[in-house]
Amino acid sequence: MTTDRVDTMIEAGDEVTIQRVAPEAGLVDVMGGSSRWEVKVDDHGFVALVDCMPRLVGEGQTADSAIVQAARVSYGQGTKKVNEDRGLIRYLMRHRHSTPFEMIEFKFHVAMPVFVARQWIRHRTANVNEYSARYSIVPDRFWRPTVGSVRMQSKTNRQGGEEPIDAGTAERFLQLLDRAEENYREYLALTEQGVARELARAALPVSVFTEWYWKCDLHNILHFLSLRLDPHAQREIRVYAEAMHRLVREIVPITCEAFEDYRMQAMHLTRLEIEAIRSGSPIATDNRREQEEWAAKRARLGL
Ligand SMILES: Cc1cc2nc3c(=O)[nH]c(=O)nc-3n(C[C@H](O)[C@H](O)[C@H](O)COP(=O)(O)OP(=O)(O)OC[C@H]3O[C@@H](n4cnc5c(N)ncnc54)[C@H](O)[C@@H]3O)c2cc1C
Repeated sequence: MTTDRVDTMIEAGDEVTIQRVAPEAGLVDVMGGSSRWEVKVDDHGFVALVDCMPRLVGEGQTADSAIVQAARVSYGQGTKKVNEDRGLIRYLMRHRHSTPFEMIEFKFHVAMPVFVARQWIRHRTANVNEYSARYSIVPDRFWRPTVGSVRMQSKTNRQGGEEPIDAGTAERFLQLLDRAEENYREYLALTEQGVARELARAALPVSVFTEWYWKCDLHNILHFLSLRLDPHAQREIRVYAEAMHRLVREIVPITCEAFEDYRMQAMHLTRLEIEAIRSGSPIATDNRREQEEWAAKRARLGL
């Protein structure tokens, strides 16, 4: 048996009708008509929000509404009361739903030292376009701590620094940075002499600044923030995460509140820790690091 095939292909030259649907209510720009919201970081750094999706939302709503819209796709619009939207977003966050949060996107322009960019670029789920030091001269901007903010190597955390080091040693470190920055003059001179910029840049230290556009969806931004706002993250990237958190919170306040309640301020308990609470006994492990982590959690819980 054969059936007649209904050909629905659009052929070249066909007239196509595009249905343009007006919004139910007036639309507002979630960035209030600004082209850029910028937060300064230390001397030369910044995190600037330059665009986001959705940019336009119904009056009285925030960009959080795009999460609700996506989550409800399977059973229609349903009820749209703001408090119910908040409940749904908080439910999605508690239960680690991801794709509704991917419906929101943010585009940032960021300036940061190269050693911070090296940590940042490890977050693979963003789209990045960086300043080209092959194409352009690297601007004269270097990261430089104050004497009081030069940290001493931590004795307990091999990856970190804690207390400020004595002023004399801090001064010596700043002098070392000065000498590294002196290379910049020679870098400029040699590029003017004709040395290719792509080679000359090899003499610049990692304290020099770079810039990029960084676009990422909200789900992966929250993952970035959970790692880079954490006290274990290096202070020099944490300040950028804090700036980003402030900007994102303005656009998706309901999601950020849920993120803070259920992730940032929340605590994960292991099976051994739950057993220790139940039995009132010390945690059943010889691992010193695990014991220390449990002690820190007990202190937070007031146990
Ligand atoms: C405090 C701290 C210390 C660190 N120390 C070191 C270090 O000493 N050395 C070092 O090399 N790195 C270090 N890192 C970097 C770290 O290991 C991660 O590479 C970085 O945090 C990015 O995390 P991510 O892969 O989860 O993020 P993203 O790349 O944004 O990925 C988000 C999520 O997407 C998924 N994903 C992305 N790409 C893939 C893929 N290809 N395959 C499967 N799943 C994928 C994963 O679930 C991932 O968690 C450190 C990070 C922190 C926060």
